[in-house]
Amino acid sequence: MSTPAPSNSILIIGGGIVGLATGYRLLEMLPNLEVTIIEKETAVGRHQSTHNSGVLHAGLYYKPGSAKARLAVRGIRQMTEFCKSNGIAHEICGKLVVATNAAEAERLKSLYERGSKNGLSGLRMLSGEQIREIEPHAAGVAAIHVPEEGIVDYAAVVTVLASNIQSRGGRIVTAAKTTALRRVGSQWLAVTTRGEFLTDFVLNTAGLYSDRVCKMAGADPKSRIVPFRGEYYKLSPARTHLVRNLVYPVPNPQFPFLGVHFTRLIHGGVEAGPNAVLALAREGYRKTNFNAKDTFDAVTYRGFLRFLQKHFRMCIGETARSLSRTLFCRSLQTLIPEITLGDLEHGGAGVRAQALDPSGSLVEDFQLIHGEHSLHVVNAPSPAATASLAIGQEIASAIAQRQGWRLVRPQPN
Ligand SMILES: Cc1cc2nc3c(=O)[nH]c(=O)nc-3n(C[C@H](O)[C@H](O)[C@H](O)COP(=O)(O)OP(=O)(O)OC[C@H]3O[C@@H](n4cnc5c(N)ncnc54)[C@H](O)[C@@H]3O)c2cc1C
Repeated sequence: MSTPAPSNSILIIGGGIVGLATGYRLLEMLPNLEVTIIEKETAVGRHQSTHNSGVLHAGLYYKPGSAKARLAVRGIRQMTEFCKSNGIAHEICGKLVVATNAAEAERLKSLYERGSKNGLSGLRMLSGEQIREIEPHAAGVAAIHVPEEGIVDYAAVVTVLASNIQSRGGRIVTAAKTTALRRVGSQWLAVTTRGEFLTDFVLNTAGLYSDRVCKMAGADPKSRIVPFRGEYYKLSPARTHLVRNLVYPVPNPQFPFLGVHFTRLIHGGVEAGPNAVLALAREGYRKTNFNAKDTFDAVTYRGFLRFLQKHFRMCIGETARSLSRTLFCRSLQTLIPEITLGDLEHGGAGVRAQALDPSGSLVEDFQLIHGEHSLHVVNAPSPAATASLAIGQEIASAIAQRQGWRLVRPQPN
């Protein structure tokens, strides 16, 4: 193995937080590598990476031994460190996961065990009274306090990652949508709306389009991306005192979504949401957005039809809650009973890139598919923003190893 020659190159398709964090880690480990990031929008980080809850997840929910558990635990430490050294606004404010009935209180116990197995420290089971000491307006019969979690400005993380990559010689090409990938000799040729790029290795971090980019490279994504829109309301400024930090419900174990919750934002204000509504467009941020190709893709996919069969009621329920502010408000009232309709102001929305397998199950864990001199990040849902630096580190090491590129810098744990 030798130090990479300047001609070794990698093309990263997708300038979201995962692509950027991987580019950053690659340049740390292999300073001579030619890193080019291709982004279809006019700026990086325009999709999931800046349309999310802005929460730093410590790894409470994820199956012990899963990539999500491993990378969230490591990732929150790395992200917090990154924010500290780059002056990015963040705060480890702690979170409550609140059970509002006996059945949820039972599930809370297994969540507590999961969190402990995943190595979280300081977890505490709270009684109803103890909940009120931390969140005076929250209702609940029991809760878990997760002191290690927090809030962050992911838009700032994206900006700092991008400028760091550029200052180390990496290239970011925006307004460049990748439309085709072809093998040319031992290299890849990426055809984009801003010209063609030859590269030794392709890394696909295209988020909502990761399955399509995977297919462009002739690899089988093994699943299909189904877009789930998450809509938010904002609490009116006069009512933000009802939530001090982060108040979450006990998640439904059938779904990888966390349920509508309250999040204090790092730059002020409190958001409530997101729900999880099947969207009719991969970048469908509004209820009225419709994309014929995306919808056709979904309804002709066996996995999607099986998912609908299994979870039809949930899908109808989520759609109804999306259309009715009253229903949305009712689910919020289970956590904070004092919330009223008049407290809710229109908020934003994000669209989750969620992989769905042919059996109709949502792929819970992060999923990477290895191809010929290529790697496809097919499923990187929450907590991939928190874990992005740890994901990037793991991907960068895997690529360097496969390509026989010797690492120049040791990496933090
Ligand atoms: C509503 C919501 C709430 C969430 N809350 C949290 C949270 O609180 N904490 C947390 O850790 N995670 C959260 N997540 C998850 C987190 O935001 C995502 O896991 C993470 O941002 C994924 O990053 P990404 O880089 O893979 O995707 P993206 O940010 O979507 O980036 C993919 C990029 O690829 C580009 N692209 C796509 N196709 C092409 C192409 N053909 N050519 C060129 N470029 C292309 C896109 O334009 C995009 O910029 C949330 C997600 C959502 C949607």
